[in-house]
Amino acid sequence: MNDKAFDISGKVTIVTGGGTGIGADIAREFCQRGAKVLITSRTMDHLGPVAEGIRKEGGTVEAMICDVRQNDQVEAVVNKAVELWGRVDTLVNNAGASFVAHAQDISANGFNAIVSINLTGTFLFSKAVAKVMMDKKTGGCIVNVSSDSGVYGAATMSHYGAAKAGVVNLTRSLAIEWAKYGIRVNCISPGPIETPGVMEVLWPTKELQTKVANSTALKRFGTGQEVAWPCIFLASAASSYITGANLLVDGFSLSNGDPYSRLSDK
Ligand code: NAD
Repeated sequence: MNDKAFDISGKVTIVTGGGTGIGADIAREFCQRGAKVLITSRTMDHLGPVAEGIRKEGGTVEAMICDVRQNDQVEAVVNKAVELWGRVDTLVNNAGASFVAHAQDISANGFNAIVSINLTGTFLFSKAVAKVMMDKKTGGCIVNVSSDSGVYGAATMSHYGAAKAGVVNLTRSLAIEWAKYGIRVNCISPGPIETPGVMEVLWPTKELQTKVANSTALKRFGTGQEVAWPCIFLASAASSYITGANLLVDGFSLSNGDPYSRLSDK
């Protein structure tokens, strides 16, 4: 029996957007299993309490401010992980953002901002981490967090859906290019996950929440932990023959892109 197959202890892991929601759960779950985690986000307001909580539980965590759109900040985070722990084993590209609007009302700036955060940020972090993995000949795992919107499309979030579709496609290209360096690149596409930031913005009413829950075969929202666990699988040797994959973690969507009216005038 290979009892190390699911082991991620000691793995140096960067989690972007690790101060809230799914990213905070990923950081906690990795730390609870002995990984050394560097969480990043745009402000310390969220990162501080998450890091403190993890340390109280005995986990190894550091926090650093970074806007995923800024290449110099991205490289600084990756350098920090190397300075702290000597290498990078795992990157979870979890940072993401969106706003709700009809496509005809989205400005060029608005569209570009969402593509920058979700897609360009994923590219910049992947590239910076892969260079370290190549230089140090360690190989490693990259897990990108896309969305069911990137698979099915997303009425009232066309910019976000397009950016997340780009993340799925980028995953495949990087998986092919970097396989020879021992770097596996996979993607997770969550469906509706109950996180404070997203619930408030996307599904603020009880009525909407019931509609969304019923738009999945499992008839409920997922949790951050239920996204974190497949990330652990994709960061461990248990997934050693999996690369370029996109794993839907969505309770099986029955709605295909137009699940729930996010705009009252729709
Ligand atoms: P969230 O808003 O709590 O998390 C997003 C994180 O990204 C935040 O910590 C935010 O500070 C960070 N972030 C945003 N812009 C950034 C930037 N420019 N630089 C650095 N960090 C930045 O929401 P969440 O629900 O935890 O989402 C986590 C990921 O899961 C996102 O990529 C999101 O698109 C994806 N997702 C969420 C759901 C859901 O239902 N919650 C569904 C599908 C996909």
